[in-house]
Amino acid sequence: MRQITHSQVRKWTNLGNIYIPASFSTWCPHCSEKVTFATTQQYLDKPRACAIASSKCPGCDHHVGVWSFGMHGPESAEVFIHPNTGEPRPSKPISSLVPEALFRSYLSTVDAYNSGNYVATAVCCRRTLEGLFQGLLPDNETNQTLARAIRAVAESVDLSEPIRKLADVLRHGGNLGAHFDAEKEPDEQMALQMLKLLENLIDYLHVLPKEINSLEGLLDRDNAPHQGA
Ligand SMILES: [Zn+2]
Repeated sequence: MRQITHSQVRKWTNLGNIYIPASFSTWCPHCSEKVTFATTQQYLDKPRACAIASSKCPGCDHHVGVWSFGMHGPESAEVFIHPNTGEPRPSKPISSLVPEALFRSYLSTVDAYNSGNYVATAVCCRRTLEGLFQGLLPDNETNQTLARAIRAVAESVDLSEPIRKLADVLRHGGNLGAHFDAEKEPDEQMALQMLKLLENLIDYLHVLPKEINSLEGLLDRDNAPHQGA
């Protein structure tokens, strides 16, 4: 099942007190085109407090099942479709970790990519990168080109600080150190934090440098002129 966000719902309808989309826009699980699905054959599944509907992709004509849970108005309804394929690139769930404007800009970039608009993806990527790096600079230094902003961040922000902090935390023992030494049994929340830490460190230390290299390789291959960005 793939969750449909409220911003993808174009129109709601209700059966009894359960709200279900009358139409919604998303990527078809069968042909991966971004289309608007209209729902039909809606009915209420009372014992499970949900409404069920069918829909057909207007592009490829394949069937998609729709489930909507929640009986307190469309604001709280949770909507799912089946099968769960077709979204080319889901966005990362980072809305609570980054400034709101930066997250919106990132979402627009993912949307542009998923709708197959690669020119818009590049434009949005650039705008999001500018927001990302300029947001790390003091106000009087934000008005500069992307390449300069990145350089300024590299020179003025201590990017290795999180790694040093982690080393300190581990060296001085404490809670986290004890968990890594397997002396203490972690609960679910602690285990999840440790897993996220591991994934983020792998991204930062291994994935990011390789991704930057492969981007450079692609640019060289295409013989694209290096812009003075
Ligand atoms: Zn389709």
